[in-house]
Amino acid sequence: MQVSSILFIYLKKVYQIRGNMKYSVEARDVKKKYGKGHAHVDALTKVTFNIKNGEFVSFVGPSGSGKSTLLNMIGGMDTPTSGSLIVGGKDLTKASRAELVQHRRYTVGMIFQSFNLIPDLSAVGNVEFAMIFGGVPRKKRGPLASEILEKVGLKERILHTPGELSGGEAQRVAIARAMSNNPEILLADEPTGNLDSKTSLKIINILKDLNESKKITVIMVTHDIPLAETVSHRIIHLLDGEIEKEQGLRNL
Ligand code: ADP
Repeated sequence: MQVSSILFIYLKKVYQIRGNMKYSVEARDVKKKYGKGHAHVDALTKVTFNIKNGEFVSFVGPSGSGKSTLLNMIGGMDTPTSGSLIVGGKDLTKASRAELVQHRRYTVGMIFQSFNLIPDLSAVGNVEFAMIFGGVPRKKRGPLASEILEKVGLKERILHTPGELSGGEAQRVAIARAMSNNPEILLADEPTGNLDSKTSLKIINILKDLNESKKITVIMVTHDIPLAETVSHRIIHLLDGEIEKEQGLRNL
């Protein structure tokens, strides 16, 4: 890793300079092509948008419109074929492998439809495990993980394994895990896809509370437009890999 990158991560952690940047995400002409020749798929074709620091933005659209592809690229799990994608002040199209690892550890936290928890670990164990990769000292992990779980309403369940939790409780653990390394951006890919409507509303309101209390940027992908409308500042509609329209709902 370059010295400048190490310095940037250090400054970000120590001085929390993240607040000085106006945008969490700046996407310019982002294109993603899978495969080659006749078999290729244009998952995204020249997508351009900005997401402000502290904004709650939802991407909606039919299946195959490119929502997950976009979220995965913002999360540094995939890279655009062309264009520029600046997330947390860093252009991910120019980032090295090591820088992408740092990005996934410190800049973003991710939650998924299927929770993706480790089945053999307790709720607190799942959160502590993520902290190992975030460099949290061993002695601090337990108390910090318990504190975060308490904040998402799981005080009585911290020693339960995922199999002993309801879907809504499991998603709360996943949110606590995503928050464990104090990310700048929370990415949620269909976070309520496996939940009933009442539980979905509770989960979505936890995301809204985090957005408001911690000023964390939240970017969510969902099929559920009415649900997105209850919490988002803005909704971006994708269709066939392009932005079809934007819907402003509330001021930041
Ligand atoms: P959405 O999340 O809106 O359902 P996706 O981003 O998953 O859409 O997919 C967009 C398009 O890209 C789809 O046509 C999908 O089949 C294709 N696609 C996604 N991931 C891959 C991949 N790894 N390899 C090939 N095609 C892919």
